[in-house]
Amino acid sequence: MKRVCTRIVAFLVLFLSAGFLPGGSEAAVLQDNWHYCDVESGASFSDILLPDAPENDTLFFETSGKSVRVTLGDQLVYAYDCPKEEWLPSYGRHWHLIKLPPITQPEQLRVEIQGKNRMEQGTPSVPSLDTARVQAEKIFLYDLPYVLSLPGDLLLALIILMYYFHQVSWKSLDLTLLLILFLLGVLSVSVSYTVQLFLDWPALWWVLSQGILSFLPVAGSFLIYQIVEAEFRRKIGAVIGIYGVLAVLILTAEFLGCSGVFYGYYPFFISVIIPCQFYTFWCLLCSMRKYQNVYSRFAVVPLIGFCFAGVFDGLNQFWQIMPWKTNLVPFCVYFLSMFVVCMMREQLLCERRMQEQANKLEYEIALAVERSEMDALTGCRNRAAFDRLMQQREGNFSMLMLDIDHFKKINDTWGHDAGDKVLQKFAALVREQLDKKHWFFRWGGEEFVVYCPHDAVEGGWTLAERIRRTVESAEILPEQQITVSIGIAYWHGADDSDIALFRRMDEALYRAKHEGRNCVMQE
Ligand code: GH3
Ligand code: MG
Ligand code: MG
Repeated sequence: MKRVCTRIVAFLVLFLSAGFLPGGSEAAVLQDNWHYCDVESGASFSDILLPDAPENDTLFFETSGKSVRVTLGDQLVYAYDCPKEEWLPSYGRHWHLIKLPPITQPEQLRVEIQGKNRMEQGTPSVPSLDTARVQAEKIFLYDLPYVLSLPGDLLLALIILMYYFHQVSWKSLDLTLLLILFLLGVLSVSVSYTVQLFLDWPALWWVLSQGILSFLPVAGSFLIYQIVEAEFRRKIGAVIGIYGVLAVLILTAEFLGCSGVFYGYYPFFISVIIPCQFYTFWCLLCSMRKYQNVYSRFAVVPLIGFCFAGVFDGLNQFWQIMPWKTNLVPFCVYFLSMFVVCMMREQLLCERRMQEQANKLEYEIALAVERSEMDALTGCRNRAAFDRLMQQREGNFSMLMLDIDHFKKINDTWGHDAGDKVLQKFAALVREQLDKKHWFFRWGGEEFVVYCPHDAVEGGWTLAERIRRTVESAEILPEQQITVSIGIAYWHGADDSDIALFRRMDEALYRAKHEGRNCVMQE
């Protein structure tokens, strides 16, 4: 680990010292016989003798905040007057693709670049003379990072948007991600070369891109603020504060015409972003190792990606590492996609765990309800279950009330334990006569109720008789015959009531007792 850290630090030192090399005056000779004159608030010019190859007739280069005039011999072939919007502080980038007229003899091609101040927005890009096709391809190539990043950006935004409405989604995190994706999308458009084909508003694109580049670290750190453990939130909060203050200072200075972007990006990208990102990285590592915070683990790769791309873009803007101005930050959307995929996976796993817990809980509740509705001695349903049944019953049905004859005597003669056993055996015998649709209740003491939802009048009677005969012939107590009396009542439809039904059933049972017991009577 120590060795890796040492290597990273060594690499950064080299990387930065390369950036510190003086860049302005060395860039004076841009390409063989091209010249760029670095004059404070003055005219800059470049010139070339047109090469022999007549097919190389297209000139391409890019300027920032400069007016341009191109002459071939004495003929003016191109003029670009850099617009200055009243309401915007800067001029912005502009690319020039100039088709030169055919020539019969070598002519001097002269490019004059007029800028208010070289410091304001940097040097022009390396100009090149080539065929129209190659130059067009070049523009496409320069835009490749943005062209490739936009579909990923849109797709990711759509996925998050759809996922946002999912019940386990982390809404504030989703919103922050959407904000970052939106900023990256607008950045891609505003820094692309192609956008100037359709909307030639260099100043607007400049302000948009600089504003976004300034505030992206704030949005990114806010995302990290949400995912790290509480212990590190204050530290990340401080980083957000530093980024926020710097971004506001840079943009305010830019709008006030003090070249805030030029003077501010140097401390921003080099002196602040790198240490702050290291600090953030360390917080993520601690949060990951100390608390096994999975989100912190997912954020490490995007953080490193964005950090390198941001620093590279910052350096390239002023020291022109690449022959053209490019921004790698928008391309980092693919690093972000790794975070999004892992985040969703984690949240779906969490949902699955929650579902499993809910299922287990549901099962336990069902078990508890079943237990609470069961008579412990006989295994029959109890009164609570009966009340629930009466609320949900429907259609025609019959109800049987069973009462063991002379049960008190059994208790008195053979003891209470023997009485309990009789109750258990009796319940088991009755249950054998029932099917799945019957509900069997212990009403209390030695009285039981059978609810027959599907049996018509005859069915209720047949069942009651079968139960009576089975009990009569069974050897529940070896020493004594056990018998049962049964009263039956039928549901009469909408005009009937539970009370009336029970009264009829009781009366039927009473008659059965009165007729000498061990018999069935119906209403
Ligand atoms: P009848 O033929 O008229 O129904 O007479 P019976 O003796 O069966 O009726 P009675 O209502 O007089 O007596 C019921 C007895 O059941 C009284 C009570 O002690 C007994 N008993 C109630 N619950 C239990 C119980 O859980 N276990 C036992 N062993 N006896 C019980
Ligand atoms: Mg009784
Ligand atoms: Mg009885």
